[in-house]
Amino acid sequence: MPVPLLDLRAQHATIKDDVLAAIHQVVESQAFILGKPVGQLECEVAGLSHTRYAVGCASGTDALLLALRALDIGAGDEVITTPFTFFATAGTIHNAGARPVFVDIEPRTFNIAPELVGGAVTSRTRAVMPVDLFGQMADLAAVAAAAPGLPLIEDAAQSIGARRQVDGEWRQAGEAATMGTFSFFPSKNLGGYGDGGMIVTQDEALYKRLMRLRTHGSVRDYHHEEVGYNSRLDALQAAVLLAKLPHLAAWSEARRANARYYDEAFADVAEVTTPYIAPEAESIYNQYTLRCDRRDELQATLKDRGIGSSIYYPLPLHLQPCFAYLGYRPGSCPEAERAAGEVLSLPVYPELSADQRDEVVGAVRSFYGR
Ligand SMILES: *Cc1c(COP(=O)(O)O)cnc(C)c1O
Repeated sequence: MPVPLLDLRAQHATIKDDVLAAIHQVVESQAFILGKPVGQLECEVAGLSHTRYAVGCASGTDALLLALRALDIGAGDEVITTPFTFFATAGTIHNAGARPVFVDIEPRTFNIAPELVGGAVTSRTRAVMPVDLFGQMADLAAVAAAAPGLPLIEDAAQSIGARRQVDGEWRQAGEAATMGTFSFFPSKNLGGYGDGGMIVTQDEALYKRLMRLRTHGSVRDYHHEEVGYNSRLDALQAAVLLAKLPHLAAWSEARRANARYYDEAFADVAEVTTPYIAPEAESIYNQYTLRCDRRDELQATLKDRGIGSSIYYPLPLHLQPCFAYLGYRPGSCPEAERAAGEVLSLPVYPELSADQRDEVVGAVRSFYGR
């Protein structure tokens, strides 16, 4: 039985009528740029994130770039982030004209290590960009305490709807940062049928600035206060996302159930370490990521059995050829480098059947002789 890493067709089959009706409505209206569905989705996502404002844009990558630009971050500035993330996190810092400063990760959660952030702050540091990796929120309160007074841009591309307790109160992904960013790339927990992204914030001035930046820096048509971007969320994508949003909580719960099943099934396999979720955090498991012995051999064995898996991420960002100019070396971020050699993400998507789950469990267990 083949088990793909992600099966978007299986999900589409469960919501097809609603999604196609929503698309049809937009096509009939012929109003494709921004418009009603985008405004509605912004309201819904602000509600989910417990924020006052949300701004739709063209992608999760653009959400990060717009957030940096809204803080006037550019040439000569430094932004602290993690090297163990999707490329866009640091790529946008570079593209804004600023310098990415990489701080190593906490080995258990793979998120930025707050205790290392303070040591990376200089007079040029303008923001910290923690990432909520694999569906689990970073410890934002600890990051904020380590970098007092600096704005936080929370890259929550993989973590929409995730939450974490701070002093006994639940905080949603995006809620506590200066700005939080989401991606609607199809493989994210809330994926569109194409690219899309969103920024959330509690700050009215930043909200207005983001609205202006996404439409060429203009508030009034053909009058430009600054040079911005063409970075809007398509009405078609917003309509699809509105049809999918009511299912998001149940999908994330199904991912957590799959994760619990794997956790138990691998508990006696000493060669693998199952994901660590902090007791105060609730993950949405955009990925279920093991650390394992003989990782590449395990992945090849899974592939032979028709089981999809992936390595997120094989080369940490501080060692990417395009960032050689920053001067990092192997050993600069040892935990990120060790993780890159050990991680393997398994199928955890909500439509996974019990038989498919058992196929994955059986393959991993038998690889290690259990
Ligand atoms: C997916 C992702 C992005 C970029 O989102 P796009 O919508 O693909 O541009 C940024 N950061 C992280 C951590 C991501 O996983």
